[in-house]
Amino acid sequence: MAGLSSSGAGVERPFVSVVIPVFNEAENLRPLFDRLTKVLDELGTSWEIVFTDDGSKDGSVALLLELQRLRPSQIHVIEFSRNFGQHMAVLAALRQSRGEVVITIDADMQDPPEEIPKLVDAIRKGHDVAGGYRVDRQDTRFRRTASRIVNALRSRATSLNMRDQGCMLRAYRREIVDLILQSNESITFVPALAALYASNPVDVAVQHAPRVGGRSKYNLYRLVRLNFDLVTGFSAAPLQIFSLVGLIVSALSGALVLLLAIRRLVVGPEVEGVFTLIGILFFFQGICITGIGIMGEYVARIYQEVRRRPPYVIKKIHEPRPE
Ligand code: UDP
Ligand code: MG
Repeated sequence: MAGLSSSGAGVERPFVSVVIPVFNEAENLRPLFDRLTKVLDELGTSWEIVFTDDGSKDGSVALLLELQRLRPSQIHVIEFSRNFGQHMAVLAALRQSRGEVVITIDADMQDPPEEIPKLVDAIRKGHDVAGGYRVDRQDTRFRRTASRIVNALRSRATSLNMRDQGCMLRAYRREIVDLILQSNESITFVPALAALYASNPVDVAVQHAPRVGGRSKYNLYRLVRLNFDLVTGFSAAPLQIFSLVGLIVSALSGALVLLLAIRRLVVGPEVEGVFTLIGILFFFQGICITGIGIMGEYVARIYQEVRRRPPYVIKKIHEPRPE
């Protein structure tokens, strides 16, 4: 692979960057750091870690700065002014990272850092994106079922090639990271952007562990929002499906009107079936409101994009210092 150097740690461009969003993960940071640095040291190449603190309130920043003191030349800490969401935290860290291979991973160790070498290997073999998929996923049954459904829906609605969209343990070549950064969207989903630009992606099986410390940052509402953002950001299928449904309903109801007109002439006035009629009306009313909602999702998205507000605000970047 041309241009992949792996010499020496420190100020020059590292071979591997690990990018980690952190939101109230105080309990997890030290064990994460220990496991991660061990894995990275064993890789035998130069590396750096870029943490983004996404507005934590539990002292995570102070802990991150402590960790930075342990490996001053290899740790970056980006401090957000407040919470801007996981994908914004990842984007900011990607922008700061300089590695030829960039790994994203969560701070909670649900995706074990020990799986990183597998992903680096896949990139070394020439893949430009290596996406983890979780075997034996350790989340609640509800999360697993929901995940299966949204993965299936998303793969039909979009043409994105991602086996497990919810798995953030992924590796990207620098060219892909540069394309992700050029995308400049204010609401986004990083693995989906990568899937869009990948020319030679591969899925890699990774282990999964239960969350040890802290709590999941996603409640049902945030999960639903995330998936709406993903589908509206990467596909117009919901709108197109609605146009189709509209056409079909119009055709059917046109036929019904015709039939009723004929009956009116042949049988005379009929009043039976009023409640059935109300039922049918409510049903179509529901479809209409959903359609307006879906249009609203796209309009809101356009509105958010055209305002061009900065998608996140960095309070401070604590850069690495040469040892
Ligand atoms: N996270 C973040 N900002 C947020 C929510 C989450 O930076 O607003 C980070 C969080 O600290 C973790 C990762 O994103 O490193 C994934 O979050 P979590 O583990 O809660 O998600 P889950 O595994 O439940 O999907
Ligand atoms: Mg997690």
